[in-house]
Amino acid sequence: MQHAVAGTPRLSVVVPCYNEAEGIGELHRRVSAACRAEVGESYELILVDDGSRDGTWGRIATLVRDDPAVTGVRLSRNHGHQLALTAGLHVCRGERILIIDADLQDPPELLTTMMARMDAGADVVYGTRMARDGETWFKKGTAALFYRLLDRLVDIEIPKDTGDFRLMSRRALEVLNAMPEQHRFIRGMVSWIGLKQEPLPYDRQARAVGETKYPLGKMIRFAVDAITSFSIKPLRAASYVGFFFALCAVLALGYALVSWAQHATVPGWTSVMVVSLVLGSTQLLILGVLGEYLGRLYMETKQRPLFVVDRIARHPDAIAAQVA
Ligand code: UDP
Ligand code: MG
Repeated sequence: MQHAVAGTPRLSVVVPCYNEAEGIGELHRRVSAACRAEVGESYELILVDDGSRDGTWGRIATLVRDDPAVTGVRLSRNHGHQLALTAGLHVCRGERILIIDADLQDPPELLTTMMARMDAGADVVYGTRMARDGETWFKKGTAALFYRLLDRLVDIEIPKDTGDFRLMSRRALEVLNAMPEQHRFIRGMVSWIGLKQEPLPYDRQARAVGETKYPLGKMIRFAVDAITSFSIKPLRAASYVGFFFALCAVLALGYALVSWAQHATVPGWTSVMVVSLVLGSTQLLILGVLGEYLGRLYMETKQRPLFVVDRIARHPDAIAAQVA
């Protein structure tokens, strides 16, 4: 029988879980072993169920019953990866915080190296993916493209090929938790904090079980959130495009007037079509970009809470330890 930690645990591990029922047992085993090797019993494992439709919450509830180190957080519905993570990051209490995915693509055993780097003074140690096993060429290709595009568009430095797998200090987490924005691109927000952040290269494994919970639609939303959260360059590019076509329009107008003056006008069906198509499409493009930002502005002004917790489950020992 393990004993619950009184006061602040030295380490919190936060895991967002969406339909991960099959993998949670193995996740619990490997993460617990890695934690014990580092901090003995002074850790907590926060499993956030992001509105799963399979037996994920049932598995989490069982773990909570058997292991005082486990806290289950169930969200009211599927809020998405970044908000599920945000919920866990608000619930956790540890001095250091490890963020890791439920599918064991990122080895929990790297905790040892991460802890050592933090002992040496880092505030954030983030995993950088060298190889990505068991992922489709499509996933790897779009991911590579995304990180390179982001790098071009964003002024702060957001490390390439880096997920949310990272160890953070409490003071870095407090800054992150104080950011109220709705559209959260957490790895970018952590970069924004600054302080001493160090990369840790590793090989990303294939998923232990199940399949990706990031279909194309979610991936695109994630990418748009990332870019619009950190860059207004698309907005600026829209004005450049608009300016360029305005210039073309002036030249075309001059040409049309000169032709008219010289009585050289011909039935200009082609030119009319070209001009209206180009202008029409450009306007739509620019309106689309404006709409993205406007929509975000609108959502932010609502100041809604970021997530809704249905319930939090803790082992009775863990609750007693907190009261004591
Ligand atoms: N996830 C989540 N909510 C979602 C989608 C994913 O909490 O709506 C979790 C998922 O359970 C996993 C992590 O986010 O722990 C990363 O998802 P996944 O491994 O499917 O993404 P990939 O590694 O394929 O990019
Ligand atoms: Mg994964």
